[in-house]
Amino acid sequence: LLSNISSDEFVSEVVSRCLAKINEPLFLAQQQIKPCVSIGIAIFPQDGNDESSIIKAADTAMYSAKQSGQQCFSFYSQDMAIQAITRLEKEQRVREAFEKDQFILYFHPQVCMETGKLIGVEALARWDHPDQGIILPNEFIPEIEHLKLLPILDNWAINAACEQIIQWHQAGLPLLPVSVNISASHFKDTELPHTVQAILTKTGVPAKYLKLEVTESAMQEVSCLDIISQLRDLGIEIYIDDFGTGYSCLASLEQLPLDCLKIDRLFVHNVISNQNTSILLGTIAGLAKALNYVLIAEGVETKDQALIMHNLGCQIIQGYFFSQPVSAEKIPSLLNVDFLQKLKD
Ligand code: C2E
Ligand code: CA
Ligand code: CA
Repeated sequence: LLSNISSDEFVSEVVSRCLAKINEPLFLAQQQIKPCVSIGIAIFPQDGNDESSIIKAADTAMYSAKQSGQQCFSFYSQDMAIQAITRLEKEQRVREAFEKDQFILYFHPQVCMETGKLIGVEALARWDHPDQGIILPNEFIPEIEHLKLLPILDNWAINAACEQIIQWHQAGLPLLPVSVNISASHFKDTELPHTVQAILTKTGVPAKYLKLEVTESAMQEVSCLDIISQLRDLGIEIYIDDFGTGYSCLASLEQLPLDCLKIDRLFVHNVISNQNTSILLGTIAGLAKALNYVLIAEGVETKDQALIMHNLGCQIIQGYFFSQPVSAEKIPSLLNVDFLQKLKD
């Protein structure tokens, strides 16, 4: 609480100092933790003339600060209130989507570059909206996150993916490995290994057909290492998603019990135009080989990208070049496709 506010600049200056101090990295059990605090500012009486309305205004401003990036601050404005109402409406719709079972999974083919065959798929959530059709995750995940419902989405996705593996198998297909995205915040939940085990037991999916993808940022949490070990003890492989965009230092990979790195789309996009990117990818590939990690290139859109990423050591390629993510019923027809044919066209 600040009193005797002389100007907005005065407030900004104090808030910047607070942010700098609060967001200083700290060490807990030898792990570096990077806080990521944002601040919303509301001023009495212009933004609210009682305790609850001023706190509400500050809260609205804080969400706006979080949206504009990490570790920012924002002053409350009327426009924000309007945005907040829109947001509330969106959140209401997302809650309804859960209640009405409107989420479905699409599956993105992963192609083995040795055989040209589909070697697995990544499960991607879609909102099958009755009026708007298929809605992509970037439209609904922020609301789900805000509502703290991401663990529910993730658990739903694990269950739906396992049920799908069994359905395909019952239709006469071989068991197909499916990787499911787990949000970084959910990955520190000590319940996760139990939930996963319960789903595997219930659906009868052998653990090696379920892979879990999590971004590097989750690796900052000490508890995550224990969770990774428990999941791997169950027989589940752990993939690092969007690899290269987070904070991981290459050396720390050595200590992490992982199975696969998914090279982020950004690198794949830059690999042709930026020589440094290909040098960096070469280093990552060398390390991955030494540590026995599988490398998947994500977001491969062109033949050249596919060839370069394969040359750099990516055994598996995922991207629009080979296929868009598809609905479950389209997967059987892709099982016999020779995707390497596309490289010859
Ligand atoms: P992600 O895990 O990095 O998934 C890959 C995203 O890149 C997917 O977008 C996919 O459609 C897209 N993509 C794949 N190949 C290409 C390509 O060649 N070019 C381009 N431009 N894009 C490509 P999508 O399905 O919109 O998913 C976005 C993100 O939403 C995912 O990113 C993932 O972080 C999140 N997500 C999706 N489903 C779930 C879920 O069930 N749980 C959680 N926690 N997150 C999910
Ligand atoms: Ca992913
Ligand atoms: Ca990714």
